[in-house]
Amino acid sequence: MNYKVLYRKYRPDTFENIISQDYIITTLKNSIKNNAISHAYIFSGPRGTGKTTTAKVFAKAINCLNPENGSPCGKCKFCLNFKENPDIIEIDAASNRGVNEIRLLIDNVKLTPTNGKYRVYIIDEVHMLTKEAFNALLLTLEEPPSHSVFILATTNVENVPITILSRCQRFDFQKIKVNDIVTALLKICNEEKILIDEDALTEIAYLAEGGMRDALSLLDQLSKNGEKITLELIESEIKTVSLKTITDLLDYIENENVDKFLDLLNELKNRGVDYKSLIKKIIEVSSKRACTIKKNGNIKRLNFDDYRNIILQLSDTLSKINVNVDSYTILEMDLLQYFNLNNTIVPENNQNNQDKTDNNLKSKINTSNSKKQDENLVNESINKQDITDNFVNIRINNCFVDAQKMYLEKAKKEIDKYKDSINLDGKIKAIIQDSNVVVASSKYLIFTCNNSHNVDLANKMLNDIENSLKDEINVEYKIVFLKNERWQQEKEQYIKNLKENKKYEYIEEEKNDKIKEEKISINDVFDASKVEIV
Ligand SMILES: [Zn+2]
Repeated sequence: MNYKVLYRKYRPDTFENIISQDYIITTLKNSIKNNAISHAYIFSGPRGTGKTTTAKVFAKAINCLNPENGSPCGKCKFCLNFKENPDIIEIDAASNRGVNEIRLLIDNVKLTPTNGKYRVYIIDEVHMLTKEAFNALLLTLEEPPSHSVFILATTNVENVPITILSRCQRFDFQKIKVNDIVTALLKICNEEKILIDEDALTEIAYLAEGGMRDALSLLDQLSKNGEKITLELIESEIKTVSLKTITDLLDYIENENVDKFLDLLNELKNRGVDYKSLIKKIIEVSSKRACTIKKNGNIKRLNFDDYRNIILQLSDTLSKINVNVDSYTILEMDLLQYFNLNNTIVPENNQNNQDKTDNNLKSKINTSNSKKQDENLVNESINKQDITDNFVNIRINNCFVDAQKMYLEKAKKEIDKYKDSINLDGKIKAIIQDSNVVVASSKYLIFTCNNSHNVDLANKMLNDIENSLKDEINVEYKIVFLKNERWQQEKEQYIKNLKENKKYEYIEEEKNDKIKEEKISINDVFDASKVEIV
């Protein structure tokens, strides 16, 4: 069976059968009803979204003798003989790119239509035209004869000259929604008596990435043996992974089932599954999970930030191999993090509750004057991912006590070296690569993150990062991360204090930290070029 068969057979010939483009169809029907037809249209959008199909139905409606509610009647002589109508001229610019082809096409544009009211020119993939061909087309569009209508279709509207675009009424076709593809496929499967599982149907719709033509090509390919179409069949035929497999993969991470995780990953590798589509799907499923966590709260180990980080990390990986993630996913994650609904983690077992009781107990002991316990509390509070503002203030203060530019230069080199160390935990690596040391003393470092959302995450992992610094490059620092705005404020305050000769004193975070400050100037601390003072 030729894979184009289903696509041709089920190509809509009425407006009603064109799916997912409601706004465009309504507007076009209204223009027929109101007899307000433009001389030039441009239909842009991804492949398989119905541009050429819509152009053909519209061309039919334009010439129909008795349009019904803006749609072609299907009964008049023009509708019935649409395919043979010499006034409908279709050209594929991909194979007729040159000026001569376009001239041939538009030379007779001034002739009146043979039969109907309008001569309709449909130019597919119009962005493929050469510069000379565009110029020839432009001349015609500038002064179109009253009986001509141009419908230009393109998947790359950005490659169409603005001079052309400005003369066209533009319609942007959207990717067809997964649900709409499923409904359409189901209808066709019923008519064609193709046996298919429900999740296989969804999988095909998903794989088609919003293009009906691709969905039908896949259906053709999968149904050629007459077997029932299942997820397994899709996976073996298309060399892809199903959403179910991705769900399993993430569940293994969620449940820390490392054996099964590695087995599955190995299996995918052996099956030759396309790496890019695998990553894209992990991003898709992670995004769904992150959204669910925001909406319904979290009862599992991985939280919103974890899934968001998975997405950001994998997007980064994709961009390194020149594949772009749907920007909306990134936008969604960037904005969703500002919602703070129901985000508490519900403890799954009593152990967690027990931990909490222990902590409460510790903090009670702490209030009864034990310095050693104080130290525990500080570390505890970092570990418990809830560092207080006071703790941050202490670290900033202590860093400023003997901050010096030479320490900063040293620290920058060290952190650069650290960024390159191969053993870094993925999360730490992501944070550190996004961070800059802005002030350093002999014992303290203050970092800012380019992406301010990483700051909270980083401050939750201070102990881990400090230990990792020691392990990887053998340096010991106490560190803290600040958002850029906060850092600007702290810097201004520091400069002000220096000018007024106010001194920073160590605030005890641990014992033996009483070191006297030396008097220093502003340029001894920052890169002079980056200090914004008058
Ligand atoms: Zn008709």
